[in-house]
Amino acid sequence: MIKEIKIYKGDIIFCASPDKFTTLENGYIITENNKIKKTVCELPSEYSDCEILDFSGNLIIPGFVDIHLHAPQFENLGLGYDNELLPWLENYTFPEEAKFSDTEYAKIIYSKFIKALYTHGTTRSVVFSSLHLESTEILADLFLESGLGAYVGKVNMDRNSPEFLTENYEKSLEETEYFIKKYNSPDSLVKPIITPRFVPTCTPELMEGLSKLSEKYNIPVQSHLSENLSEIEWVKELHKEIGSYAKVYDHYKMFGDRPTIMAHCIHNTSDEIKLMQEKGVFVAHCPTSNFNLSSGIAPVRKFLDSSVKVGIGTDIAGGHTVSMPETIVAAIHASKMYNVYVDRSFHSLSISEAFFLATKGGGEFFGKVGSFEKDYEFDALIVNDTELNGNSRKNLQDRLEKYIYFGTKEDIKKVFVSGKEINRNRF
Ligand SMILES: [Zn+2]
Repeated sequence: MIKEIKIYKGDIIFCASPDKFTTLENGYIITENNKIKKTVCELPSEYSDCEILDFSGNLIIPGFVDIHLHAPQFENLGLGYDNELLPWLENYTFPEEAKFSDTEYAKIIYSKFIKALYTHGTTRSVVFSSLHLESTEILADLFLESGLGAYVGKVNMDRNSPEFLTENYEKSLEETEYFIKKYNSPDSLVKPIITPRFVPTCTPELMEGLSKLSEKYNIPVQSHLSENLSEIEWVKELHKEIGSYAKVYDHYKMFGDRPTIMAHCIHNTSDEIKLMQEKGVFVAHCPTSNFNLSSGIAPVRKFLDSSVKVGIGTDIAGGHTVSMPETIVAAIHASKMYNVYVDRSFHSLSISEAFFLATKGGGEFFGKVGSFEKDYEFDALIVNDTELNGNSRKNLQDRLEKYIYFGTKEDIKKVFVSGKEINRNRF
């Protein structure tokens, strides 16, 4: 195999671990076949003849990884936040998702959605579509065309939903299997993920069937868990025999039997948190959504102390923005309020911890993604922060913090996924 060497020069900053940044001012990232070989301050002489992509003066940071969001809710950004979860689903989410029976509408909205992702520097995402098969194929195809990495899930729901969004479970499973077979390719940047919407909308038969598909094709799983107190009571009513919300997923072998993301996890019991740790379940922490829908504050510090895997999700349109920097800030704010109002012993998130969660933390779901360590895929943003800094000279950590809190999408000059530059004018 021919070795393709590419070298990127600039002010490099990333988090290999949550507690600190690794910084290289005027450093070099050396990649071989789009994977990182080394990250160095001085270029070794053996590379002196290689072409260098010179971004001197710009920040080079890992691309953002958003591990929970709903593509068909893109038009609902900023709507309906006087409601809590269940009325919000009924009055805002379901009527909008129903429109995706129309593939022309899907093409228009999903193109806008993907453009918003790369414009804001999100290079990988784990996405809910709607229950509509054809529109979900459109979403996956547009992701493939864009060059972004994604897990895409056709949503399954066959009870407790409006009639216009209720599937027959056999058809739901057939269509899910078709979607899996069409897109399940190990080398693809876009892959399928099993997506029961949440326990209340899925019959035991449907859960059984999805679990079998997950096992048969070795497909990861995503869903929602313990977002809202009324929702948790509802699940208890529906599954009195099982005992806890997390255990319902576990009962159907969709709780870490394959890689699994559970969004929110605000009101979990200690037993559930222990089960998440034991089974390697990822929490998608979605602070903007949790504020907007008055759901609560997830105990992120408790997850980290318990060695539960955590990433960050924008959860649009519960969240009002696809911007991961804004969501990082919200995660820090949430942890500060948790510290002040709930439990003084849980320290708030530092900027490096929150940045870690939004890059390498969630990136782990994709493999070696979200860092600039050896063998990681080169997913990166080139950020020109000159305007942000004015005349003052700052260290790299200060520059990154300023960009996260105060920067905009206009500061992002280039986006790379797995070593390939994203054409940001495609859609
Ligand atoms: Zn969600």
